Amino acid sequence: MNFFIDSHAHLNDPAFDADRDSLLQHTLPQAGIVHSIEIGCSPEEWLPALQLASSYPALVHAVLGVHPEYAVKLGENDLARLAQLLPDPRNTAVGEIGLDYTCLDISPKDLQQKTFQQMLELGNQTQLPLVLHIRRQGEDYAAYEDSFYALKHNWKGASRTKHAGVLHCFCARYEEAKRALDMGLLLGINGCFTYKKNEYIREAVKKAGAEKIILETDCPYLSPQGKRGQRNDPSNIPLIGTFVADYLNMPVEALAQTTVQNTKDLYGLP
Ligand SMILES: [Zn+2]
Repeated sequence: MNFFIDSHAHLNDPAFDADRDSLLQHTLPQAGIVHSIEIGCSPEEWLPALQLASSYPALVHAVLGVHPEYAVKLGENDLARLAQLLPDPRNTAVGEIGLDYTCLDISPKDLQQKTFQQMLELGNQTQLPLVLHIRRQGEDYAAYEDSFYALKHNWKGASRTKHAGVLHCFCARYEEAKRALDMGLLLGINGCFTYKKNEYIREAVKKAGAEKIILETDCPYLSPQGKRGQRNDPSNIPLIGTFVADYLNMPVEALAQTTVQNTKDLYGLP
Protein backbone atom coordinates (compact mmCIF):
# COMPACT_ATOMS: atom_id res chain seq x y z
CA MET A 1 0.00 0.00 0.00
CA ASN A 2 1.20 3.51 -0.83
CA PHE A 3 1.07 6.27 1.73
CA PHE A 4 0.03 9.80 0.83
CA ILE A 5 -0.58 13.22 2.40
CA ASP A 6 -3.40 15.58 1.54
CA SER A 7 -1.49 18.88 1.68
CA HIS A 8 -4.62 21.07 1.48
CA ALA A 9 -8.05 20.17 2.82
CA HIS A 10 -11.05 21.92 4.35
CA LEU A 11 -12.49 19.10 6.45
CA ASN A 12 -14.17 21.60 8.78
CA ASP A 13 -16.42 22.59 5.88
CA PRO A 14 -20.12 21.91 6.64
CA ALA A 15 -20.06 19.42 3.73
CA PHE A 16 -18.39 17.02 6.20
CA ASP A 17 -20.64 17.62 9.20
CA ALA A 18 -22.43 14.28 8.83
CA ASP A 19 -19.38 12.02 8.62
CA ARG A 20 -16.23 13.98 9.54
CA ASP A 21 -15.15 11.63 12.32
CA SER A 22 -15.79 8.45 10.40
CA LEU A 23 -13.76 9.87 7.50
CA LEU A 24 -10.84 10.73 9.78
CA GLN A 25 -11.00 7.53 11.79
CA HIS A 26 -11.63 5.03 8.99
CA THR A 27 -11.76 6.31 5.41
CA LEU A 28 -8.47 8.19 5.43
CA PRO A 29 -6.33 5.53 7.14
CA GLN A 30 -7.83 2.89 4.84
CA ALA A 31 -6.82 4.97 1.81
CA GLY A 32 -3.25 5.33 3.11
CA ILE A 33 -3.57 9.00 4.03
CA VAL A 34 -1.05 9.61 6.82
CA HIS A 35 -1.53 13.38 7.21
CA SER A 36 -4.20 15.86 6.20
CA ILE A 37 -3.43 19.56 6.33
CA GLU A 38 -6.43 21.57 7.45
CA ILE A 39 -6.62 25.11 6.10
CA GLY A 40 -8.27 27.66 8.36
CA CYS A 41 -8.49 30.63 6.04
CA SER A 42 -10.85 33.10 7.74
CA PRO A 43 -10.87 34.29 11.37
CA GLU A 44 -13.79 32.06 12.38
CA GLU A 45 -11.97 29.01 10.99
CA TRP A 46 -8.72 29.42 12.96
CA LEU A 47 -9.73 27.85 16.27
CA PRO A 48 -11.73 25.01 14.66
CA ALA A 49 -8.68 24.13 12.53
CA LEU A 50 -6.47 23.96 15.63
CA GLN A 51 -9.17 21.98 17.42
CA LEU A 52 -9.32 19.43 14.61
CA ALA A 53 -5.55 19.07 14.89
CA SER A 54 -5.94 18.48 18.63
CA SER A 55 -8.58 15.81 18.06
CA TYR A 56 -6.36 13.97 15.55
CA PRO A 57 -2.83 14.93 16.58
CA ALA A 58 -0.98 12.39 14.42
CA LEU A 59 -3.15 12.90 11.35
CA VAL A 60 -4.23 16.55 11.15
CA HIS A 61 -2.08 19.69 11.13
CA ALA A 62 -3.34 23.22 10.70
CA VAL A 63 -2.49 26.16 8.44
CA LEU A 64 -3.86 29.56 9.42
CA GLY A 65 -4.30 32.74 7.41
CA VAL A 66 -6.74 34.91 5.47
CA HIS A 67 -7.91 33.84 2.01
CA PRO A 68 -8.16 36.84 -0.37
CA GLU A 69 -11.89 36.23 -0.74
CA TYR A 70 -12.33 36.55 3.05
CA ALA A 71 -10.26 39.73 3.48
CA VAL A 72 -13.46 41.61 4.44
CA LYS A 73 -13.90 39.29 7.43
CA LEU A 74 -10.65 40.40 9.05
CA GLY A 75 -11.76 42.40 12.09
CA GLU A 76 -9.83 44.96 14.10
CA ASN A 77 -8.25 42.57 16.59
CA ASP A 78 -7.91 39.59 14.29
CA LEU A 79 -4.45 40.41 13.01
CA ALA A 80 -3.01 40.43 16.53
CA ARG A 81 -4.93 37.25 17.30
CA LEU A 82 -3.48 35.54 14.23
CA ALA A 83 0.03 36.62 15.20
CA GLN A 84 -0.53 34.89 18.54
CA LEU A 85 -1.95 31.71 17.01
CA LEU A 86 0.65 31.17 14.26
CA PRO A 87 3.47 29.96 16.58
CA ASP A 88 1.15 27.26 17.99
CA PRO A 89 2.84 23.88 17.42
CA ARG A 90 -0.33 22.59 15.74
CA ASN A 91 0.06 25.25 13.05
CA THR A 92 2.51 24.61 10.22
CA ALA A 93 2.26 27.56 7.78
CA VAL A 94 0.61 30.88 6.90
CA GLY A 95 -2.21 30.33 4.43
CA GLU A 96 -4.05 30.26 2.36
CA ILE A 97 -3.19 33.80 1.36
CA GLY A 98 -2.78 35.61 -1.94
CA LEU A 99 -4.73 37.46 -4.62
CA ASP A 100 -7.85 36.40 -6.49
CA TYR A 101 -9.41 38.90 -8.88
CA THR A 102 -12.32 36.61 -9.76
CA CYS A 103 -14.15 37.72 -6.60
CA LEU A 104 -13.65 41.50 -6.64
CA ASP A 105 -17.38 42.05 -6.15
CA ILE A 106 -17.14 40.67 -2.63
CA SER A 107 -13.46 41.40 -1.93
CA PRO A 108 -12.10 44.66 -3.41
CA LYS A 109 -8.64 44.65 -4.94
CA ASP A 110 -7.06 47.22 -2.61
CA LEU A 111 -8.30 45.33 0.44
CA GLN A 112 -6.96 42.03 -0.93
CA GLN A 113 -3.57 43.61 -1.55
CA LYS A 114 -3.44 45.18 1.90
CA THR A 115 -4.40 41.87 3.54
CA PHE A 116 -1.83 39.93 1.49
CA GLN A 117 0.80 42.42 2.60
CA GLN A 118 -0.18 41.89 6.25
CA MET A 119 0.01 38.12 5.79
CA LEU A 120 3.48 38.41 4.22
CA GLU A 121 4.59 40.43 7.23
CA LEU A 122 3.37 37.63 9.49
CA GLY A 123 5.30 35.20 7.30
CA ASN A 124 8.42 37.31 7.76
CA GLN A 125 7.91 37.52 11.52
CA THR A 126 7.29 33.81 12.03
CA GLN A 127 9.52 32.49 9.21
CA LEU A 128 6.80 29.94 8.51
CA PRO A 129 6.22 28.71 4.94
CA LEU A 130 3.36 30.17 2.88
CA VAL A 131 0.36 28.47 1.31
CA LEU A 132 -0.51 30.71 -1.64
CA HIS A 133 -3.87 31.06 -3.36
CA ILE A 134 -3.32 32.91 -6.62
CA ARG A 135 -6.00 32.66 -9.27
CA ARG A 136 -5.99 33.83 -12.86
CA GLN A 137 -9.08 35.16 -14.61
CA GLY A 138 -9.30 33.31 -17.89
CA GLU A 139 -6.22 34.45 -19.79
CA ASP A 140 -5.64 37.37 -17.43
CA TYR A 141 -2.70 36.62 -15.14
CA ALA A 142 -2.71 40.00 -13.32
CA ALA A 143 -3.20 38.32 -9.92
CA TYR A 144 0.00 36.34 -10.57
CA GLU A 145 1.90 39.45 -11.65
CA ASP A 146 0.82 41.37 -8.56
CA SER A 147 1.46 38.42 -6.24
CA PHE A 148 4.94 37.75 -7.57
CA TYR A 149 5.71 41.46 -7.27
CA ALA A 150 4.58 41.50 -3.62
CA LEU A 151 6.49 38.31 -2.83
CA LYS A 152 9.65 39.58 -4.48
CA HIS A 153 9.63 42.94 -2.70
CA ASN A 154 7.99 42.26 0.65
CA TRP A 155 8.70 38.67 1.58
CA LYS A 156 11.94 37.43 3.07
CA GLY A 157 11.29 33.72 2.52
CA ALA A 158 10.86 31.07 5.19
CA SER A 159 13.86 29.79 7.10
CA ARG A 160 12.08 27.24 9.27
CA THR A 161 11.47 24.65 6.59
CA LYS A 162 13.24 23.25 3.54
CA HIS A 163 10.67 24.71 1.11
CA ALA A 164 9.50 28.32 1.42
CA GLY A 165 5.91 27.64 0.46
CA VAL A 166 3.49 26.19 -2.05
CA LEU A 167 1.51 27.59 -4.95
CA HIS A 168 -1.64 25.77 -3.97
CA CYS A 169 -4.14 24.57 -6.62
CA PHE A 170 -1.60 25.08 -9.39
CA CYS A 171 -3.60 26.04 -12.46
CA ALA A 172 -1.31 28.10 -14.68
CA ARG A 173 1.40 27.84 -17.34
CA TYR A 174 5.02 26.78 -17.00
CA GLU A 175 5.90 30.47 -17.02
CA GLU A 176 4.17 30.96 -13.66
CA ALA A 177 5.42 27.61 -12.37
CA LYS A 178 9.01 28.60 -13.13
CA ARG A 179 8.71 31.92 -11.31
CA ALA A 180 7.27 30.11 -8.30
CA LEU A 181 9.99 27.45 -8.32
CA ASP A 182 12.66 30.15 -8.51
CA MET A 183 11.28 31.57 -5.25
CA GLY A 184 11.63 28.20 -3.53
CA LEU A 185 7.93 27.36 -3.82
CA LEU A 186 6.42 23.98 -4.62
CA LEU A 187 3.35 23.39 -6.81
CA GLY A 188 0.18 21.99 -5.20
CA ILE A 189 -1.46 19.55 -7.60
CA ASN A 190 -5.12 18.58 -7.30
CA GLY A 191 -8.13 17.48 -9.34
CA CYS A 192 -7.57 20.30 -11.86
CA PHE A 193 -4.58 18.34 -13.17
CA THR A 194 -6.92 15.48 -14.11
CA TYR A 195 -9.49 17.44 -16.14
CA LYS A 196 -9.39 16.78 -19.87
CA LYS A 197 -9.11 20.42 -20.94
CA ASN A 198 -6.14 21.18 -18.69
CA GLU A 199 -3.32 19.82 -20.83
CA TYR A 200 -1.31 23.02 -20.23
CA ILE A 201 -1.25 22.33 -16.49
CA ARG A 202 -0.02 18.78 -17.09
CA GLU A 203 2.71 20.04 -19.43
CA ALA A 204 3.86 22.61 -16.87
CA VAL A 205 3.96 19.97 -14.14
CA LYS A 206 5.92 17.61 -16.37
CA LYS A 207 8.54 20.30 -16.94
CA ALA A 208 8.68 21.09 -13.22
CA GLY A 209 9.08 17.42 -12.27
CA ALA A 210 7.86 15.34 -9.33
CA GLU A 211 10.55 16.80 -7.04
CA LYS A 212 8.72 20.11 -7.18
CA ILE A 213 5.15 19.04 -6.47
CA ILE A 214 2.89 18.00 -3.62
CA LEU A 215 -0.61 16.52 -3.81
CA GLU A 216 -3.79 18.08 -2.44
CA THR A 217 -7.56 17.78 -2.77
CA ASP A 218 -8.78 21.28 -1.77
CA CYS A 219 -11.81 19.29 -0.63
CA PRO A 220 -14.77 19.48 -0.55
CA TYR A 221 -14.17 21.06 -4.00
CA LEU A 222 -12.44 19.93 -7.19
CA SER A 223 -13.05 16.18 -7.24
CA PRO A 224 -10.75 14.45 -9.73
CA GLN A 225 -11.87 13.26 -13.17
CA GLY A 226 -14.16 10.25 -12.77
CA LYS A 227 -15.62 11.65 -9.56
CA ARG A 228 -16.60 15.13 -10.71
CA GLY A 229 -19.83 16.43 -9.24
CA GLN A 230 -19.27 14.39 -6.08
CA ARG A 231 -17.95 15.71 -2.80
CA ASN A 232 -14.16 15.52 -2.72
CA ASP A 233 -12.23 14.21 0.31
CA PRO A 234 -8.61 13.25 1.12
CA SER A 235 -9.17 9.58 0.23
CA ASN A 236 -9.09 10.72 -3.43
CA ILE A 237 -5.39 11.57 -3.16
CA PRO A 238 -4.26 8.11 -4.38
CA LEU A 239 -6.44 8.59 -7.48
CA ILE A 240 -4.90 12.01 -8.18
CA GLY A 241 -1.46 10.50 -7.53
CA THR A 242 -2.12 7.76 -10.09
CA PHE A 243 -3.12 10.35 -12.73
CA VAL A 244 0.06 12.32 -12.08
CA ALA A 245 2.34 9.27 -12.00
CA ASP A 246 0.88 7.98 -15.28
CA TYR A 247 1.38 11.33 -16.97
CA LEU A 248 4.93 11.67 -15.66
CA ASN A 249 5.66 8.09 -16.67
CA MET A 250 6.78 6.99 -13.26
CA PRO A 251 5.63 4.28 -10.81
CA VAL A 252 2.96 5.56 -8.43
CA GLU A 253 5.06 4.21 -5.51
CA ALA A 254 7.87 6.62 -6.40
CA LEU A 255 5.47 9.53 -6.84
CA ALA A 256 3.88 8.78 -3.47
CA GLN A 257 7.27 8.72 -1.74
CA THR A 258 8.53 11.90 -3.37
CA THR A 259 5.39 13.93 -2.75
CA VAL A 260 5.09 12.72 0.86
CA GLN A 261 8.69 13.75 1.53
CA ASN A 262 8.15 17.13 -0.16
CA THR A 263 5.04 17.75 1.93
CA LYS A 264 6.83 16.80 5.15
CA ASP A 265 9.73 19.08 4.23
CA LEU A 266 7.33 21.93 3.47
CA TYR A 267 5.30 21.77 6.66
CA GLY A 268 8.05 20.46 8.91
CA LEU A 269 6.15 17.25 9.71
CA PRO A 270 7.78 14.31 11.50
ZN1 LIG B 1 -8.26 25.89 -0.10
